[in-house]
Amino acid sequence: MIILMLGAPGAGKGTTSKVLSEALNIPHISTGDIIRDIIKSNNEESKLLSSYIDEGKLVPDDVIEKIIEERVSEDDCKNGFVFDGFPRNKNQIIICNHVLEKIGKQVDLVLNLDVSNETIIKRLENRRICLNCKSIYNLRNPSMTPKVAGLCDKCGHELIQRSDDKKEKVEFRIKVYEKETKPIIAYYEKTGKLVNLDIKEDESVEQTVENILHYIGKKGKNDNN
Ligand code: AMP
Repeated sequence: MIILMLGAPGAGKGTTSKVLSEALNIPHISTGDIIRDIIKSNNEESKLLSSYIDEGKLVPDDVIEKIIEERVSEDDCKNGFVFDGFPRNKNQIIICNHVLEKIGKQVDLVLNLDVSNETIIKRLENRRICLNCKSIYNLRNPSMTPKVAGLCDKCGHELIQRSDDKKEKVEFRIKVYEKETKPIIAYYEKTGKLVNLDIKEDESVEQTVENILHYIGKKGKNDNN
C-alpha cells in the first residue's frame, strides 16, 4: 500500500506516519528526516541543504527526486510505504507519479491532516526531536513528553529543537505551505484518493491512526464487493 501524508508543518505528519507505518508494517519515508541525516553527515551537500532547511525554504526538486528514487528502490519498499512530506509542490506530484511508475506502483491513499494554524504554532514551538532515532516529543502534551527531560526515551540521545521550529521561522514555513503545498490537495481530491482528517487539538495520534486503519479496512471490504 502506498500512502501519502499531507498537512501543514506541525500537523502531525511525522508522528502519524510513524505509528501508521508500524501498524501496516511498511516503511515510513520522511524527506525531512533524510535531509536532516544528510546534513548530520557533514558532507559537501550538507551546507547547501542546511541553508534551505534553516530558512524554512523548500529544497530544490531535483535533490528531492534523487532522494526519493534511491529510497523507493530499496528492498524494504516492495510492499509499499508511507511518504511523509512528499510531494510538497505541484512539480513534485509529477516527480512522484514518475518515480512510482518506474517501479510499477501507484498511490493508493492520500491522507490530509487538517489542523488549525493556532494548534500548529503551539505544537511546533513545543516540539523536540531525537536526531538519532527520529522520535518526536511535545513538551505541552503529557502523552508526548520524554520521561527524562531533554533525553530520548527510546535511545537516550539528547533531544533538540529543530532550527526551523523556532518562532521566527514557523510563520514563514506556514506561508511556504499555503503557497506551495496546499494547492496540491485539489489535485489529489480529483483523483478520488484523498481523505481529509479533521484533527482536533487534543486528539491523540493513536486515535487518528485507529480512524485511518478503520477507514482502510472498510475501503478494502468495499473494494472487494
Ligand atoms: P519536514 O521534516 O517534513 O517538516 O521538512 C523539513 C524541511 O525539509 C522543509 O522545511 C524543507 O526545507 C525540507 N523538505 C522536506 N521535504 C521536502 C520536499 N518534499 N521538498 C522540498 N523540501 C523538503
